[in-house]
Parts: sequence; structure tokens; C-alpha cells
Amino acid sequence: MTVRVRFAPSPTGYLHIGGARTALYSYLFAKANGGKYILRIEDTDLERSKREYEEAQIADLKWMGIEHDEGPDKGGDFGPYRQSERLQIYKDIAWDFVKRGLAYPCFLTSIELERLTEKATSENKDPHAYHGQFRDLDPAQAQKRIDAGEEYVIRFKNPGKTWEFTDLVKGHVKFPENMVGDFVILRANGMPVYNFCCVVDDAKMEMTHVFRAEEHLNNTCRQLMIYDAMGVTPPRFGHVSLLIGHDRQKLSKRHGATSVTQYKDQGYLPAALANYLCLLGWSHPDETDIFDVNELGDKFGYERFSKSSAMYDIAKLNFF
Ligand code: GLU
Repeated sequence: MTVRVRFAPSPTGYLHIGGARTALYSYLFAKANGGKYILRIEDTDLERSKREYEEAQIADLKWMGIEHDEGPDKGGDFGPYRQSERLQIYKDIAWDFVKRGLAYPCFLTSIELERLTEKATSENKDPHAYHGQFRDLDPAQAQKRIDAGEEYVIRFKNPGKTWEFTDLVKGHVKFPENMVGDFVILRANGMPVYNFCCVVDDAKMEMTHVFRAEEHLNNTCRQLMIYDAMGVTPPRFGHVSLLIGHDRQKLSKRHGATSVTQYKDQGYLPAALANYLCLLGWSHPDETDIFDVNELGDKFGYERFSKSSAMYDIAKLNFF
């Protein structure tokens, strides 16, 4: 089995230090295992995604020496995969789910949805308890409403099971049965939501391992349902611990420079930044702090990921 790992940034800003660390881990893991590292631009949020950010992120990854192995054309000078260029793939799968009774068109307006959420909350139920109003609507009726031009989303039918998996960093994870309701996979504007298109792509692109930030751990519950519906075995997941500032809060702009671009512009050496980022949540088997990430070879593995949050301290970076 060839190891296949990806980095899937959303081009909604400059490359964040946390994103750069995830990219680095994914890249090093692919290299350590003679595998492939894939870059996928998750640009389905039309309002927030910008080509300018995509270009800056790719340039910053390149500056750090992180270059992807494959693109849509698989030629020499290839670009990354872009979700905005794969919309038909997501639509086809969403409608295949509808045909198979695993998803359904839902005609709730945002006002109705809000009202139902409030009702559920006031009754001490899960906020999504009433979101499944259209799950049993006769398909012919649904088609009539669609033909009449009514707005709708496609909602995935939560099969109501317990989902669990073994995370490469966190260990065994079990999600409570009612954590999510019937959730949207295609929006009214026809665009897929992250949890859906991410799984479609990870499945179609045959990812074997997915490393991403801990904040995505709960998303994995919805994602496991989609893998199941597609009949695909999920990749191994590794949710890496959070980066925090000196006040133990999630790293953000108020802690100082948080984008790779800022470090590049300030004249930091890419090798030093890569070395420092690599150690924020991973430790070298030889207990050393100074090394060249490109020479790690098979020393890099998920066994040495830290379970606790890593404190980002710019002063320390200056020692590298
Ligand atoms: N586009 C998502 C993000 O930037 C990707 C998360 C994932 O790796 O699954 O957070």
C-alpha cells in the first residue's frame, strides 16, 4: 500500500503557522514512508476564498521546501487539486445518496430552521432534533417542489449509530450518538460543505492517512458517516494538538506574527522555521532540538506526536 497524505488548506487568508505545521507533518510522513504528498485547495466557500491567498499559501509552502507530488494533470508543471473544479463529482455523489435513500432534499427555510432549533433547545433536546422534517417526504413530491423552483439543501440522514475510531494521536475516540442530526451536505447554492467534499476527495484521492488540527476532531463523526455511505474504509486519522500562546489560549493574531509570510518577510530562514514548527507537537527520537527536517527520513513517525497542546514562543524561534 502506498502511503498517501494530503494538506487541504482553505484559501481564506495567508498560510497560518498551525497550517504550515500540519503541512510539514503530512509532507514528512509521506517522505518517511516513500509515499505521496498531495495539496488540495478547499475553495468551496466562494465569499471567503481568494486566488491571491491560494497563490501566497503555495509560495510559502514552497519557500519552506514543501512541494506537492501530484496535481490534476500529473504533468511536470502541475497545479494543486481545487475543489471548485470538482463540483460535479460532489453533486453526483450527493444525488446518488438521495437515490439510495441516504440523503434527501430539505426545504426548510433559514427562518424555519432557526425556529425549530429554538424549539428543540427550549425543550432541552439536541438543537438539531427537528431538522429531519423532510427525511420521509415522498421523492416524487420532493421532485415537484424542486421543479417548481423551491429552494432546498441536501441533508444527509444520520443513521443514528455510535461512531468510533482509533486516532493516531488521541487514541480511542467515541462520539455520542446524538452529537449531530441530519446534516447539510449540499447548500442551497449547490456548493458542498467541508465535511462532505473533504471525504469525497480523501476517498477518491485514496488517502491512507490524514493529519490535521485537533479542532477537526468532532468533524470526524460526520465524516465517518459519509465514508460508510460511500462504502470506503476511512484513512487513519491523526489529530495533532493545538498551538497555544503564552496565555494558554489558542494561537491567534494577538500573540504576534502567525502567518508564514510574516516570517519570510522578516528574513527568517525557512529551515529554522521548519525545524521549530516540527518540534511544536513532535519530538525527535534522539532527543535533539536542532536538525534539518529534510534529513529526518524514516525517523519521522506519528508515535512521537505529543498529546498536549504546544506553546508557540517566537523568542525560541530565534535560537534556531
Ligand atoms: N480546509 C480545512 C481547513 O483548512 C481542512 C481540514 C482537513 O484537513 O480536513 O481547516
